[in-house]
Amino acid sequence: MPFTPTADAQGAPTVCRCCARRAIGTGVGLTKQKDDPGYLCGECVLIIEDLAKMRRLDPFELQALDGGVEAVGEWLTERGISDLALLDELDARMLVKAAWLGCADRLRAALREAPF
Ligand SMILES: [Zn+2]
Repeated sequence: MPFTPTADAQGAPTVCRCCARRAIGTGVGLTKQKDDPGYLCGECVLIIEDLAKMRRLDPFELQALDGGVEAVGEWLTERGISDLALLDELDARMLVKAAWLGCADRLRAALREAPF
């Protein structure tokens, strides 16, 4: 993290700089023409003032990973799954989605609560 580039070759938004979900047209990174625009998703736009804290991201990355681990654990527990080899393609995708959203949610929460 952060996820870059956030725009395609034509400059259209692709992924959120903060959480890698689908980006919209609001960015935080463009200061020179050659810079990545730093496009954000709709949820991360809501905490745009907190994104300056991303310069010190390592502790936030760890918290985000913890959020992903917890989300995966909850997802597996809810379904009673203990053997990942038994997951079909849809369940495998949903497991990864749970991890991804868990990381993104925890990252946004950590940025909101950061004491600086
Ligand atoms: Zn985002």
